[in-house]
Amino acid sequence: MSARPGVVYLVGAGPGDPGLMTARSLELIATADAVFYDRLIPPGALDSAREDAELVYVGKQPGMPSVPQEEIAARLVEAGRAGRSVVRLKGGDPFVFGRGGEEGEALREAGVEFEVVPGITAGVAATAYAGIPVTHRDESSAVAFVTGHEDPEKGETALDWEALARFPGTLVFYMGVKRLADNAAALIAGGRDPEEPAAAIERGTTAGQRTVEATLGKIAGAVAREEVKAPALIVLGPVARRRTQLAWLERRPLHGRRVVVTRARAQASGLAAALRDLGAEVVELPAIRIEPRTESDEVRDAIGRLGDYTLVCLTSPNGVRLLFEAMEAAGQDARALAAATVAAIGPGTARALAERGILADVVPERFLAEALVEALAGVEVDGRRVLVARAAEARDVLPERLRERGAEVDVVALYETVREKPDPEQVEAAAEADYVTFTSSSTVTNLVEALGDRFPTRARVVSIGPVTSATARTSGLHVDVEAERHDIDGLLAALLADAAK
Ligand code: SAH
Repeated sequence: MSARPGVVYLVGAGPGDPGLMTARSLELIATADAVFYDRLIPPGALDSAREDAELVYVGKQPGMPSVPQEEIAARLVEAGRAGRSVVRLKGGDPFVFGRGGEEGEALREAGVEFEVVPGITAGVAATAYAGIPVTHRDESSAVAFVTGHEDPEKGETALDWEALARFPGTLVFYMGVKRLADNAAALIAGGRDPEEPAAAIERGTTAGQRTVEATLGKIAGAVAREEVKAPALIVLGPVARRRTQLAWLERRPLHGRRVVVTRARAQASGLAAALRDLGAEVVELPAIRIEPRTESDEVRDAIGRLGDYTLVCLTSPNGVRLLFEAMEAAGQDARALAAATVAAIGPGTARALAERGILADVVPERFLAEALVEALAGVEVDGRRVLVARAAEARDVLPERLRERGAEVDVVALYETVREKPDPEQVEAAAEADYVTFTSSSTVTNLVEALGDRFPTRARVVSIGPVTSATARTSGLHVDVEAERHDIDGLLAALLADAAK
């Protein structure tokens, strides 16, 4: 059900992995008039918000005064009273160290209707992703969520450290990094065994997750040495040792590696998702954008005489998509290609055709214009009309070879790839990258031009094939890895092999 006017939703966004957001939270974000959000929400959490929704950041900014809690509550009340549908989005769960209780009380007092949408709290999520079960049949029958933020020295604490020390189960400390040394000492003073296993989990559930293990007596030193930073949880209990068996996220082949994807945004998702599945932290820095040219006379003319072509060659999934869009706009469908031999430059292009009901007659094994030329050797083209539908700036190998064989070739540009302006945040993230992937010559030239001297120097350069590699070298880059198969799967395989070295 959509967000209702005049209602404020106190919504948990989960611990960081976007996949751990609830269906309800996504439904509300997609329909609300306004979203008031904190710092610790998953990347992309607001992507599905309405175009006209008001997105208000009310979290802490490093080094800046944060918006006071009373002011946040007042703004929620005001928005609710104005009849707007409002999502108040918080990291984890809104009622676990999230001040959701206070906001709910302010809304009730003001007579504004609210609903609470629980989120997966870091205490169970980061631990699970670190391979630490917070309870265990043999070792822990209880778990306590504790704030580590109160100062045990100052006597102003609401926490009874001796009682905590005696607690018969797992202790999970939120906000516990800064005061860890004092807190650990207080627990030991209260009688907790300094040899008890403990762990600190930093940026849990994200590609940047890191876990540091030590005993209670040594955890503060280990955390300081490893420079563990917030957000991080401290887990104390024999269950922390179970990680030896149960850790999984941090064992993925690309965990801890940062990889830059330079494909156009519309195409990047497949590669980015595959990299994320392998554990990589993906920086999306699209170097290029696809600008359709399907309104041109040249395209219109070609569509008008599709029936005359004996051979139609498509050189990218984008080309297939745009050709079909142009055909549809002209009132045509796949039957317009019924008489032609259809050739696709590679498996991705063939797949895009298959999705539209056309099984390509010719698909070379290698994704290269030269390979397509070879694969077409058996197709009669002399004196026949051939359509090559492709990007504006593609190489001319294919049409030239076909013309040499007597074909009458129409080359039609369905789209142009233009340079995309890089997002400053992503540029900064890319500076520390381990890998930069290039899937075409245009991604190389455009990224190199766009970044200039901010090009990540530490990163290893991964190229999809020899043509892209040559362009990279001309642009002054050193190519560290070149795919053997010149498609996305081949590029992934090459990157994985390199990372395993
Ligand atoms: N409402 C949130 C907690 C907010 S308090 C929840 O339910 O999870 C902020 C603290 O939560 C951080 O200091 C840290 O201890 C913990 N935390 C939040 N996200 C985390 C993450 N991804 N990994 C580890 N700890 C996290």
